[in-house]
Amino acid sequence: MKADHVCTCGQRHLQPQSIVRVGSGILDSMGAIIQELSLGGSCVLVCDGNTYEVAGSKVFEQLQAVGKDVQVLKFQRSENLVPNEQALGELFQALVSKPDFLIAVGSGTISDLTRYAAFIAGIPFVLVATAPSMDGYSSTVSSLVQHGTKQTFLGKEAFAILGDTRVLSEAPLHMIQSGAGDLLGKMISRADWKLSHLLTGEAHCASIQERVNQAIDLTVEQMNTLAVTSEEFAETLMQGLILSGEAITLFGGSRPASGAEHQLAHYWKKLALKEERTIGLHGQKVGCATRIILKVYHKVAERVRREGSTQLQRSFDQVMAELPSVEWYDALLEKAGMSFTLDGLGIPKEWVEDGLLNAMYLRDRHSILRLADEYGWLEDITRQIMLEEID
Ligand SMILES: [Zn+2]
Ligand SMILES: [Zn+2]
Repeated sequence: MKADHVCTCGQRHLQPQSIVRVGSGILDSMGAIIQELSLGGSCVLVCDGNTYEVAGSKVFEQLQAVGKDVQVLKFQRSENLVPNEQALGELFQALVSKPDFLIAVGSGTISDLTRYAAFIAGIPFVLVATAPSMDGYSSTVSSLVQHGTKQTFLGKEAFAILGDTRVLSEAPLHMIQSGAGDLLGKMISRADWKLSHLLTGEAHCASIQERVNQAIDLTVEQMNTLAVTSEEFAETLMQGLILSGEAITLFGGSRPASGAEHQLAHYWKKLALKEERTIGLHGQKVGCATRIILKVYHKVAERVRREGSTQLQRSFDQVMAELPSVEWYDALLEKAGMSFTLDGLGIPKEWVEDGLLNAMYLRDRHSILRLADEYGWLEDITRQIMLEEID
């Protein structure tokens, strides 16, 4: 990545370098597309049983047809693939043949594993997305599980991100919902970032925010007008997710794409890993947490109107002007036939209380939860939300 761009915000932003191709039927020309990237003659194709079936076998055929030497690493698991030491061991074994590049066919877990292996091996990798399920495609870090805990490691930026909307639109519905949840959560990320900028002077970039806003707006518009299983929606969602991942690279941190909603979702994930529970995909948790944090925002806004200083009120007015109501959020999800309920995801109600009170300690970042805590309102607001959730 090159840091050659000084923005109107005064900061230098790292430019994302991945080549992005998302379109209908591009799986059929995958051989030519990958050939054009000039990455070399041998590769390891990383996939699992499902992703091999939906796209991997086609990619394999296409690569062979253009004369590539392709080794397939298909992860075989009876349960979900966990990106842990065992999976990495299998992947590193496949690297003994010294391939020129790697191809990850899959979504989150497969891309996290391959991104890390490519980084360690110092070779490029191409990502063939199979579901618009999260915003990590354009990431430069890998989320892996070490000693049973989720941790972030350095990874390699994908050389190219390729997505066939025929495949993406046919992804399991909960994966599409996960992508939408991850993207809708950016409404909270936006509010938290702005709030921190206004109250603590944290660096902010209007042009990065504007890119994320476009992704949010188009996704919301199409959730109201199109079937979420249509190719058109798959393209919008996928492009929006890539864009919001790129915003992280541009800013040099996850701030534009992750606020209190991600903290709460990560906190739940931590509890789930400890208890070995399955509680839905990343973006489904984010979608669920978004609704709860929206409630927190509206309740804090009420307190600010009653008890806040003029400066705090002014800052809040700016932030709340861009935040929808909980009713609007519910209606949008209903219209799109989506739901991110605690019960549906298997998240115990007590985890809401636990998360609201403790998620902010996961990292040192200003958020609505931290603000509510600083003013001594958090426990009271959490109590009110718990009463509503139990009703
Ligand atoms: Zn996310
Ligand atoms: Zn900027």
